[in-house]
Amino acid sequence: AGINFEKYEDIPVDATGKDVPEPITSFDDAKLDPLLFENIGKAGYTVPTPVQKYSISIGSFNRDLMACAQTGSGKTGGFLFPILNQSFKVGPPDVSQTRSNEMGYRTRKATPIALILSPTRELTSQIYEEARKFCYRSWVRPCVVYGGADIGQQIRQMNHGCDLLVATPGRLVDLLERGRITLEHIRYLVLDEADRMLDMGFEPQIRRIVESENMPGVGARQTLMFSATFPRDIQMLARDFLDNYIFLSVGRVGS
Ligand code: ADP
Ligand code: MG
Repeated sequence: AGINFEKYEDIPVDATGKDVPEPITSFDDAKLDPLLFENIGKAGYTVPTPVQKYSISIGSFNRDLMACAQTGSGKTGGFLFPILNQSFKVGPPDVSQTRSNEMGYRTRKATPIALILSPTRELTSQIYEEARKFCYRSWVRPCVVYGGADIGQQIRQMNHGCDLLVATPGRLVDLLERGRITLEHIRYLVLDEADRMLDMGFEPQIRRIVESENMPGVGARQTLMFSATFPRDIQMLARDFLDNYIFLSVGRVGS
């Protein structure tokens, strides 16, 4: 761990799109929610990375984002900070209207407000651990689900509270089919390592999730996509999932 900030001075950042918000200059000047500011300090972060400078401000303006940035550029904070900054301020959703299933049984459904899709067990776990740090003492309860592990255990964990869900696409589809999660309260959607998810063949599952009936549509949610590269299939996803987005490229972007 550890970012070489001297090197970052040399990394070109290019932001394009309509009315691109000014990036923040520092965590102190960004008018962050006080609890998030405190938790960022506790994590030992003093200077935001270029991706984080832009994404925090893009989040405040409720814009969608397509960010292409190399590994180690601080993308996890890049999506957690704008989501948590707004969530801490706005407070929890009213989930009292969440319906029971057709059978009339009161199946307990998780009601996340933020969904982060990531390709592997290892990456989802890393994001979850970061989320735990930044959610500390807030109302937002992070939760993680991935394949190859006991689903019953994951369902029990979700029952303890699941406001920010980090998931691999396959396991999430499984849980949706079992009626254990509703996406109707989603305000923030993140596709992390989108190029890798497509390389792993997850496009059908991703589309199933994002285009499912309950998921708030483009415009009713904020969507942030991250990818190391920007090939044609990622461009198509961006076209379908994002609205009037800011395109951010940090460093050299391959395609
Ligand atoms: P990426 O997803 O772009 O590969 P990560 O979000 O995993 O990058 O961050 C890489 C490393 O840098 C992690 O160890 C993370 O804790 C650390 N890091 C991220 N942002 C900052 C920051 N603003 N200050 C200090 N360390 C940071
Ligand atoms: Mg990452």
